[in-house]
Amino acid sequence: MQQTTLIIHGGAGNIYKGMLTDQQEKDYTEGLKYALDQGYGILRQGGAATDAVIAAIVAMEDNPLFNAGRGAVFTKKGLHEMDACIMDGKDLGAGAVAGVRNIKNPIRLANEVMLHSGHVFLSGSGAGDFALQQGLESAPDDYFFNKERYEQWIEIRDSNFYQLDHKADNLKGVAPNTDHKFGTVGAAACDAQGNIAAGTSTGGMTNKRFGRIGDSPVVGAGTYANNATCAISCTGHGEYFLRAAVAHDISCLIEYKGLSLSAACDLVVKDKLKKMGGEGGLIAVNALGESCFSYNSTGMNRGMRNSEGQEIVAFYGE
Ligand code: ASP
Repeated sequence: MQQTTLIIHGGAGNIYKGMLTDQQEKDYTEGLKYALDQGYGILRQGGAATDAVIAAIVAMEDNPLFNAGRGAVFTKKGLHEMDACIMDGKDLGAGAVAGVRNIKNPIRLANEVMLHSGHVFLSGSGAGDFALQQGLESAPDDYFFNKERYEQWIEIRDSNFYQLDHKADNLKGVAPNTDHKFGTVGAAACDAQGNIAAGTSTGGMTNKRFGRIGDSPVVGAGTYANNATCAISCTGHGEYFLRAAVAHDISCLIEYKGLSLSAACDLVVKDKLKKMGGEGGLIAVNALGESCFSYNSTGMNRGMRNSEGQEIVAFYGE
């Protein structure tokens, strides 16, 4: 029988035991479990992988704990510019948005782009116009205000540093001595028809400038899905994930070299990307319902549920 699986992440980075208070651990656990409930509920009822991915991501976009939607970080100008992407492995359909403002759920907008725009990738105010046309819910700036994120931004807004949601003080351009707070979100699913899909949503990096776009909304870098290989959502230092075309590279290793899902993921994340200096991780699923987490950072906020009755919610390294 076809196995159904939902796998999610809420950011990778310097996440280690003792770093989160009991309350924070409880909040993250609840946030990830709620996202699994929302997404897996759709798979259980025979729904499509794309719908499960959207439901799980919307749950995390609505939760200010995560750097996406409501909890999106501040740009250099004190705004929130969000990126999102969804890809359907059944037909290689894809939709993405970059630098969108005041959209409550950017992943829903990415899905509208995939289904109804005739395009793949929209940006900035044009993407906003399309959102309006499609009747998507918008929200005022103060909906996205979050005290912790604001303080994170205040600390570095007068510098030219940008800040990952991960401690990453060895990275070029990244603010030193910053600590992990929250994270980008993503989901990948395999449904009862054996179709797979992946999606990613993020506010990017604190203090980002010049309309910077990360890997998350870029097909083949931070997000990719193909029934023949895998569905992947990444999180980490986007510049490296872009240059390594991480998600598509993994798909190619499976398609052309016959690597298993976990071998392909680990080769790219723990070897190729690491050698380049790229910190982060990813989630992956294939059309058999197999799934894996792979990260080269200390930890990754993550969760998985499948029809075999397995459930994982974890943060720290193994
Ligand atoms: N990959 C995202 C970006 O570079 C950040 C993250 O995953 O936290 O925009």
